[in-house]
Amino acid sequence: MTAPLDGRNAIVTGGSRGIGRAIALEIGRQGANVLITYRSNPALALDVAAEVTALGVRCIAVEADVRDNAALEHMVEHAIEQFGSIDILVNNAGMTDDGLLLRMSEESWESVLDTNLTGTFRATKLALRHMARARWGRVINITSIVGEIGNAGQANYAAAKAGIIGFTRSVAREVAARGVTVNAVAPGFVLTDMTSGLTDDQQAAILRMVPMGRYAQPEEIAPTVAFLASEGAGYITGQTFNVDGGVVMH
Ligand code: NDP
Repeated sequence: MTAPLDGRNAIVTGGSRGIGRAIALEIGRQGANVLITYRSNPALALDVAAEVTALGVRCIAVEADVRDNAALEHMVEHAIEQFGSIDILVNNAGMTDDGLLLRMSEESWESVLDTNLTGTFRATKLALRHMARARWGRVINITSIVGEIGNAGQANYAAAKAGIIGFTRSVAREVAARGVTVNAVAPGFVLTDMTSGLTDDQQAAILRMVPMGRYAQPEEIAPTVAFLASEGAGYITGQTFNVDGGVVMH
């Protein structure tokens, strides 16, 4: 029996932990070869690569900071050399640096925008060349409900994630006629290192917002990403899919 992503080749940025790790495992389980990137922790990335390889597909871990265009050029070249194509790009690498606006430094603003938004721009631009030439491609950008509804203390992150939604819609329009779809997935609150530092009060406030009354596990975000990467999602583009336990209902 063939799996939905058999024969596809994917890049997942920030695949060494959390949601990116779950996405790499899910699309590997569905048959795709995966190149995962990381910024600072090769040991974790190598563990994920071993777990994905054990599923019977190929997986390579590459150090590539999404703030560094040359590193992303290398990532794309490496994927083409090793796999022959880039069919799927998941722009997942992200970070936060929270603080109220009145106390937010320009440095904090710029680093969050650079990683989350400009990193997505850089990787997409580089991978799209190959997808457009092949007349097939899937770009999936990980945004956040914070980009839709805002969050006190996260003006930088909310701006970056809202930017990703506008970027997704615009690029989707540019490449639709070339067989490339571009969509976004907006998780709600997910149990990862990113959310582990929240105080009890912050956690309680979050849970009050979630109709399902609990956090998501990273494994609950990954299947939506895998679906958007599949052949069956070929007529869906420019959309943002909320996977958030019911926080945002359009
Ligand atoms: P984690 O902090 O658990 O993991 C972040 C991943 O991104 C790691 O693999 C990290 O690599 C990588 N990374 C961070 N900065 C860079 C960089 N400059 N270049 C390359 N890789 C980088 O995050 P999550 O799994 O929680 O988040 C994944 C995505 O989902 C992010 O875009 C986040 O904004 C989004 N999201 C998360 C939510 C949540 O509740 N957790 C909710 C909504 C959206 P390394 O380990 O090497 O540093």
